[in-house]
Amino acid sequence: MNEMFENALPVLKRLEEKGYSAYFVGGCVRDLLLHRHIKDIDIASSARPEDVQRIFPKTIPVGIEHGTVIVRHDSVSYEVTTFRKEDEYKDYRRPSNVWFVDDLKEDLSRRDFTFNAMAMDTSFQLIDHFGGRDDLEHKQIRTVGDPNLRFSEDPLRIMRAWRFMSVFDMTIESKTINAIKDKAHLLKRISTERIAIEFIKLLQGEQPGKVLQFMKKTSVLEYLPTTLQEKTNDSYQKFEWNKLISDDQRWTAILLLSVVSDVRSFLKSWKLPNHMIKKVEILKIAFEIESWSKMDLYCYGLEVALSSITLKSAIEKKDYAHVKERLHELHSEIPIISRKDIPLDGQDLLKITQREPGVWLGKLLEEMEKEIVEGELSLDTAALKDWVKRWEP
Ligand code: ATP
Ligand code: MG
Repeated sequence: MNEMFENALPVLKRLEEKGYSAYFVGGCVRDLLLHRHIKDIDIASSARPEDVQRIFPKTIPVGIEHGTVIVRHDSVSYEVTTFRKEDEYKDYRRPSNVWFVDDLKEDLSRRDFTFNAMAMDTSFQLIDHFGGRDDLEHKQIRTVGDPNLRFSEDPLRIMRAWRFMSVFDMTIESKTINAIKDKAHLLKRISTERIAIEFIKLLQGEQPGKVLQFMKKTSVLEYLPTTLQEKTNDSYQKFEWNKLISDDQRWTAILLLSVVSDVRSFLKSWKLPNHMIKKVEILKIAFEIESWSKMDLYCYGLEVALSSITLKSAIEKKDYAHVKERLHELHSEIPIISRKDIPLDGQDLLKITQREPGVWLGKLLEEMEKEIVEGELSLDTAALKDWVKRWEP
């Protein structure tokens, strides 16, 4: 058995010893069957949060009202959640009410898709009431129960369906896709942050292009925080998303491929954190650079330069490895990282020139920096002094 499951077993066994039932549930069971990397092990149990806190020496109450307690065991955190049921999702954000139930099946039936509604017991027997394993085999996404009802309860599940479609390269079963079309407008009630989380996971997946194309066909793109509209037909699908390695590249790709009138307000409408907005804005500008000079590289940095080439190669479906190699080379030839690496400072310059301080000083420093970066001027102190003496405003 998988090592992570083995390591968690004592936690489940301990719950059983105390008279409760306990199961592996959700994403970890799905990922085990898919032979995918397992992020964390989630446990569902008939034990109430206060029981869990009593039984284990090290616990963290992370979501008692939803029935979740973290149990620390051998320096690993396990979320132990009491079997529960939720009533209708009145505000479309959080379940308005959580009830604890005694039955695993009832807990599994509140979950979104059949492959997320499987459990495994302490003998590693699969419990699969809704045909999740079959759906995994057929690479099919299907809600647990009536899709119209399930998407009305929680429209975020629409985004989760697209996310799983992209990440696992699956298709969405026909009743489920019809319900998505019907209920897409309910996405407007879901918080931007939660949509953005699912959207970026979708872009990180294996098939973002195909999924964006489907979202366009089903009109879901209209109900995102800002309507997404392709700049040219099929550009989402033709773009080589799998070449991208960071989220700032992914957001920049969305910008480059979509009709966007104002970059900043677009990024703000997705409620992205400021550090991400800044990164994307810089990358978008850097993308316009046709041929990188040493000074460009010095100003934007090697990482941004390489990112811009990655985007270019994904759009143009070309390799551009040689361009990246050349950028590495060019960057290694730049003798300084910042102005601090220049052995003369403002005081030295005043002494050498015997001038009064003024705006000329900034100008001189800027020119000197540029000459050094471009390799026209060596970092040798004598050479620099000589250059300063000859400098004229
Ligand atoms: P990952 O952790 O890889 O993002 P996951 O399937 O574990 O995927 P989580 O958001 O961690 O997703 O949720 C854990 C489990 O909780 C899911 O497998 C699913 O059973 C259930 N779940 C999560 N979100 C919903 C939802 N919106 N509606 C119903 N069930 C949900
Ligand atoms: Mg998870």
